[in-house]
Amino acid sequence: MAVFDHPDFDQHESLHYIQDAATGLRAIIAIHSTALGPAAGGCRRWQYVNDDDALTDVLRLARGMTYKNAVAGLKFGGGKSVILASDAAPKSETLFRAFGRAVESLGGRYVTAEDVGCSVDDMRYVKMETDFVSGLPKDGAGAGGDPSPLTALGVFLGIKAAAKTRLGTDSLNGVRIAVQGVGHVGLHLCRLLRDDGAELTVADVNGDNLRLARDELPVTEVPPAELLFSDVDVLAPCALGNILTSVTIPKLKAKIVAGAANNQLADESDGARLADRDILYAPDYVINAGGIINVAHEYYGNSSEEQVRAEVGKIPQRLEAIFVEAKDTSRPTNLIADELARHLVGNSQGVELT
Ligand code: NAD
Repeated sequence: MAVFDHPDFDQHESLHYIQDAATGLRAIIAIHSTALGPAAGGCRRWQYVNDDDALTDVLRLARGMTYKNAVAGLKFGGGKSVILASDAAPKSETLFRAFGRAVESLGGRYVTAEDVGCSVDDMRYVKMETDFVSGLPKDGAGAGGDPSPLTALGVFLGIKAAAKTRLGTDSLNGVRIAVQGVGHVGLHLCRLLRDDGAELTVADVNGDNLRLARDELPVTEVPPAELLFSDVDVLAPCALGNILTSVTIPKLKAKIVAGAANNQLADESDGARLADRDILYAPDYVINAGGIINVAHEYYGNSSEEQVRAEVGKIPQRLEAIFVEAKDTSRPTNLIADELARHLVGNSQGVELT
């Protein structure tokens, strides 16, 4: 598919196609913006149906990172990478080191970390080739390590803010919440929701992850195809994107959509579809910023875990401001958030990329 005419091409600064014959690595790194700092965003390893799907994913994810980092007040621009998973290129030290060399070749314009399909251990291999990586195993009491628990914390606090606005409740006691995907973030989120008294419905396409959740928590399981349409108060998408569409939105029963997944809306207009149904949508890149906040503090150093948690604690206030403006102006929350992000990026003076 042509890049410059691609519907998701949004003036991305650069795209880098990586191919390494020795390991079979095939990857794309997309740098959307370096206006606020080095383009930061995780590396996703996924089995795409075809290359076009990988390109679409990385273009959308990279733009989302620009917006996410700007709204979270981080000294980061936006970028993302995808590794095209295949049997010919299994996960290995050599594969991630080849990816690390590709990151290094960009001279610090892109900073990577883990995303779906990658782990802190994989980032250790990347680190052998480049310093432009974060989300490494935690060392001492400082910020760092797996970003998922901090992402889950931000989502949990965001769900509480949304529940206060839409359901008029300060507690999640008895609130029915459907969590799509109980992987790294979803499982941590379920623990926090359980501790606050929520009633959990879950689904996952991965039997092992589902078993972990079932063994530890009181959850009701439903088939993955039914989860979105569960009769619940809150839908928390914590799997993949493009799930809120003109087809799925009319069938939702939840009053709130608030979860960790990136790019939940298939299209910008789906935000209006949700608002028309009086479903309060917590813009994904605002509510799921906890992980990148942790990654940023690790990358720039000198932060304690308490400082990171305090920063993550600002997510509900940001969401509440968006909810209020959406209500006052009768506009969808996703458009309010996008405007805010573009304003923040556009007003930047530019920073040195070190
Ligand atoms: P993960 O791979 O650990 O977990 C995702 C889970 O979703 C897996 O268990 C997978 O089997 C499941 N899943 C996939 N398709 C599904 C479907 N159709 N129905 C039900 N379950 C399905 O990934 P993660 O790190 O937990 O991230 C989850 C989402 O949150 C992703 O969209 C990711 O980009 C986003 N996110 C993650 C972080 C983080 O800190 N890890 C930060 C911000 C955003």
